[in-house]
Amino acid sequence: MSSTPAPIGFIGLGIMGRGMAHNLLQAGFPLIVWNRTPAKMQPLLELGARAAQYPADLAAQCDVIITCVSDTPDVEAVILGENGVIDQVRSNALIIDMSTISPQATREIATKLNQKGAHLLDAPVSGGSEGAQKGTLSIMVGGDAAQFERALPYFQAMGKTITHVGDQGAGQTVKLVNQILVVGNALAMSEALLFAQAGGLDLEKTLKAVGGGAGGSWMLSNRAPQILKRDWTPGFTIDLQQKDLRLALKAADQLGVPLLGTSLIFNLYRTLQAQGLGGDGNHALIKALEHLAGIEIDSDHP
Ligand code: NAP
Repeated sequence: MSSTPAPIGFIGLGIMGRGMAHNLLQAGFPLIVWNRTPAKMQPLLELGARAAQYPADLAAQCDVIITCVSDTPDVEAVILGENGVIDQVRSNALIIDMSTISPQATREIATKLNQKGAHLLDAPVSGGSEGAQKGTLSIMVGGDAAQFERALPYFQAMGKTITHVGDQGAGQTVKLVNQILVVGNALAMSEALLFAQAGGLDLEKTLKAVGGGAGGSWMLSNRAPQILKRDWTPGFTIDLQQKDLRLALKAADQLGVPLLGTSLIFNLYRTLQAQGLGGDGNHALIKALEHLAGIEIDSDHP
């Protein structure tokens, strides 16, 4: 006799969460969802998900709960806050936090959940909104090996490169490694495009010529074409990118490691936030360099 699998819970249906939750549904996992802004639940409800009233209400019905919200205080709010998951968490439940937050706070949340007999994996992701939609995310997981095995079918529905990197908090630390690489690539892309513009090059041909070589990157392939169209729609906002660099710089300070390039980029993003551009995509980093250089990318006029 086949039994219907127990529903899994999903909290946070933003740019990332909505694609990830959709892929879980597509893979056949019954889903209970909660989002602070209720309207964002509607498309998933139309596909068969059920809505919870609060994170606590969701926790009462699910053995596995995924969170994907913005920042450390937001994860604390949905797990530990009023009507949060911890209020009604089931014994032996597994909470998988796929947001990017502080490694230290992750360990503290894990301790509180452990005291209620529940488990936490930190499983932040990379691959952008495109990866969330297509189910091709890279997922870096910290926590207990048995809980990692338990979570694997869900990770496989959302991602392609799934790596158990160490104990609780290690997933978040690896994600910060990833973000140091991402912003370095974003700065290199921005300088290279401005240099090409100033040199009178055909920007599309330039991208075609260099994209597959040693200078290629995910950032160049996915975001340079957007820059050429001056399309600043976020896959990942400047505000969230700034948050990740703040986490990286804080961790680096605790470790005593200098991150010279990363702190420069952190401050360039800050200038854009000060101009009210925090909601732009992170590739709008180029606007800070355009301002310094006194030229703009204009693919119609090399
Ligand atoms: P987003 O589109 O801004 O969505 C944020 C989600 O968090 C929304 O569902 C929002 O609810 C919810 N939220 C925020 N604060 C909350 C609170 N205090 N209580 C309850 N819910 C709250 O962000 P995103 O791009 O999906 O990013 C989500 C996480 O994934 C972040 O940690 C981000 O760093 C990480 N990430 C993003 C990308 C990317 O390319 N976008 C890539 C890798 C990792 P509302 O709908 O009510 O605002």
